[in-house]
Amino acid sequence: MSKVLITGGAGFIGSHLCSRLLNEGHEVVCLDNFFTGSRSNLKKLEGNKHFTVIVHDIVNPIEVKGIDRIFNLACPASPHHYQFDPIHTLKTSVYGAINVLELANKNEARVLQASTSEVYGDPDVHPQPESYWGNVNSIGLRSCYDEGKRCAETLFFDYSRKFKTDIRIVRIFNTYGPNMNPNDGRVVSNFIVQALKNEPITIYGTGKQTRSFQYIDDLVEGMVRMMDIQDFSGPVNLGNPNEFTVKELAEKILYLLPDSTSEIVYKELPSDDPRRRQPDISLAKDKIDWEPVIQLEEGLLKTIDYFKEVLIAR
Ligand code: NAD
Ligand code: UDP
Repeated sequence: MSKVLITGGAGFIGSHLCSRLLNEGHEVVCLDNFFTGSRSNLKKLEGNKHFTVIVHDIVNPIEVKGIDRIFNLACPASPHHYQFDPIHTLKTSVYGAINVLELANKNEARVLQASTSEVYGDPDVHPQPESYWGNVNSIGLRSCYDEGKRCAETLFFDYSRKFKTDIRIVRIFNTYGPNMNPNDGRVVSNFIVQALKNEPITIYGTGKQTRSFQYIDDLVEGMVRMMDIQDFSGPVNLGNPNEFTVKELAEKILYLLPDSTSEIVYKELPSDDPRRRQPDISLAKDKIDWEPVIQLEEGLLKTIDYFKEVLIAR
């Protein structure tokens, strides 16, 4: 049994990771400032005697003793939320990385960074392998997130080279599932909530831009495998290589909700919105014997069930 710290543990991905590690018998410490995370994501966990919550902003240094492993997830992930206070988003990625790396050194803990496909920006290489250095705007509206995450990767590798910090980096591609915040603003949650409420489905731009959607359980499996593996730091892509246009996603959700009276409407495309995104997962297959097993329709049905419950409870 290890003692595991999960920063951003009250968020969408973090809450699933907390559950998984508690189920495996670990002691879990969830650190969160509750900017986009929520207590309701932790409701089923809070009675567990091996689970504790620290309310803290990772921008500030933190002391926690006896930690064996750290998953660093603290950072708003939806464009809507990370652009709300871009300077704080950058501090969260950069100061946050320094603070968890210092904590890892003090505890001699292994530390995993939740990086992102956004490090590839609007990619010229398709699909994206880890060896691609990316096409990122350093001064746009998305830069606070993209460049913050890129800088965090740099810090992880510099700590590894300078202090022999035991690091892992995963680059996460668009992930969805239960425990997403209904007001999060990301495409899967927006479309499902809109369809359930019979409101217009808002496609930004033409809807021809693509994303590759990964179900949460597949991601958590990949993250745990990366944390457990010896002698491989990554970065490694974790995503589902099945690529869809945003319009296809909207149509799929309407097909799965035949009673919905929602219609598709088109809105302005936000600036720097990547035109396409698809992970090359050869490295993950080779190094951690991982690939996604849950495909879009199955994952969407589970997510729809979750949002139905959330909307009924409101
Ligand atoms: P989320 O917004 O649901 O979770 C982020 C969590 O971090 C929230 O609980 C939030 O309150 C917390 N947080 C934010 N700033 C903080 C701070 N300064 N101090 C402490 N806590 C803070 O998002 P998510 O989808 O669960 O994403 C988790 C991580 O995975 C993020 O680092 C994100 O960049 C990364 N990621 C997610 C995706 C995805 O598709 N979901 C894709 C790529 C990368
Ligand atoms: N998007 C959309 N309608 C929405 C929300 C998002 O058409 O209501 C588009 C968005 O412009 C982008 C894609 O869906 O092209 C994925 O957006 P999301 O915010 O989920 O993630 P990211 O852009 O970070 O991949």
